[in-house]
Amino acid sequence: MAMDISGVTERRARPTLALFGGAFNPVHRGHMSLAAEIEARLEVREILFIPTGHPPHKEFPGISCEERKIMLDLAIGGHPGWVSSDIECRMKGPSFTARTISVLAIDPPPFFLLGEDAFADFWSWGHPEVILSGTHLVIVTRPGSEEERTRKAIIKTLRAGGLLDPLSAGDALLGVRRGKLEEVVWSLPNFGTTLRFLRISAVDVSSTDLRHGLAGENREYWLDLLPDPVKSYIVKKRKYQVFPK
Ligand code: ATP
Repeated sequence: MAMDISGVTERRARPTLALFGGAFNPVHRGHMSLAAEIEARLEVREILFIPTGHPPHKEFPGISCEERKIMLDLAIGGHPGWVSSDIECRMKGPSFTARTISVLAIDPPPFFLLGEDAFADFWSWGHPEVILSGTHLVIVTRPGSEEERTRKAIIKTLRAGGLLDPLSAGDALLGVRRGKLEEVVWSLPNFGTTLRFLRISAVDVSSTDLRHGLAGENREYWLDLLPDPVKSYIVKKRKYQVFPK
């Protein structure tokens, strides 16, 4: 049962769509299990996966945004309600989540999924306020990530969300500082949205480890951390065989 100390839940209708952005380089079983758990727990009807566009000079050699999307489509293919967008692949220049959210302009605001590692850097992203007003942020746990940094980032977001004035603010902050974060929802009155923290049963894998692992001696082990159709694609096309020096 979620601890809801926000006093209000989502403004207007509860979102039925969740956005899931990431490099997906490559998409792995951790991404898939996160999406499945979110779909069930937040009862969303649709998940929109958005591979981040990288400027060409920052691409991992031989893997473009389009190819990351191809692998993503193989991974989510056949799953009702799971779709991908090439919006960031088509954007000129580096992609910014805030820009994507503005261009998509989804109303009512959808959920936006973020691992706690990614959220820890949230305030260094361009225009975080655009993301806060355009989506209901959902921060999920990752094995081995730094909960302390996440707590600090949540406190900063709550302060920015104007939760310090109401009586509930003290409890909200105390809850983050001392409480065990399991499933908590706060409202961000200044933005008309909410911020959620969800502890999920994450699969311990990252794309960074995968890229290293796939280029190493134990390629078979790492291939098994990929969704089956992605594994077949990577084997057939001989992708991720070398890790750049
Ligand atoms: P990299 O290691 O290259 O940073 P990644 O595995 O973190 O890649 P991304 O594509 O950057 O994958 O992740 C997209 C989003 O999914 C991020 O918000 C990230 O925190 C989250 N995420 C990735 N892997 C997991 C996992 N195993 N469990 C929970 N969340 C995850």
